[in-house]
Amino acid sequence: MTRSRATGLVLFLPVPIVLALFVRTPLGLGASLALGVALMATHRVYARPWALVRASRRCLWCGREDGAGPVALSDPLGPAAWSACVAHDSSLRAFVGWAERRAPLLEAGILGTLLVLLATGLAVVAEVLPAARYADAVALFQGGVAISVLPLSLWGPRAPAPVNARSPFPLHIQALVGTAVVVWLFRVVGAIWLVQAALHARRSLGWP
Ligand SMILES: [Zn+2]
Repeated sequence: MTRSRATGLVLFLPVPIVLALFVRTPLGLGASLALGVALMATHRVYARPWALVRASRRCLWCGREDGAGPVALSDPLGPAAWSACVAHDSSLRAFVGWAERRAPLLEAGILGTLLVLLATGLAVVAEVLPAARYADAVALFQGGVAISVLPLSLWGPRAPAPVNARSPFPLHIQALVGTAVVVWLFRVVGAIWLVQAALHARRSLGWP
């Protein structure tokens, strides 16, 4: 593994750590949510500059740093000189274009359920809601994320590729480990979370 790939992986680690803090609350609900929100809010301060410095030479799909050329992509945080190898240019534009066309659904499934999760967590900490409601909100978040990222990861890379596309989510996060790795994380974690959300719904509804 090159030093650049290892650094990208380390900079990506806060993402799964934040998800684990929100879903499993290992430090207790209040402390887990506070640490998760703090990690989430500060991540772009160091991760985005690292990704942008390498954007013009590092393939946003596979992370290789030789032979990548410019690709016309942008994200909510502004334009950047993203690039891709010839072999991955089309898959990358297809993936981001698929996400752009379904941006409202993806935002509702991921950011909408995250807001519900955080609001429910605050209400449970304030003893406005019983603790069981947080487990419901976790299942809603896992289900919402799963039904958002599973189709994106399965069909996005094979979709028609637009000439240029604007990602609804910051591209520097996938740049840290490469979009190809994120696609596989979406497939694996999406499948596990879909099952967990379905099992929770079955238990909550009292089905056998
Ligand atoms: Zn590549």
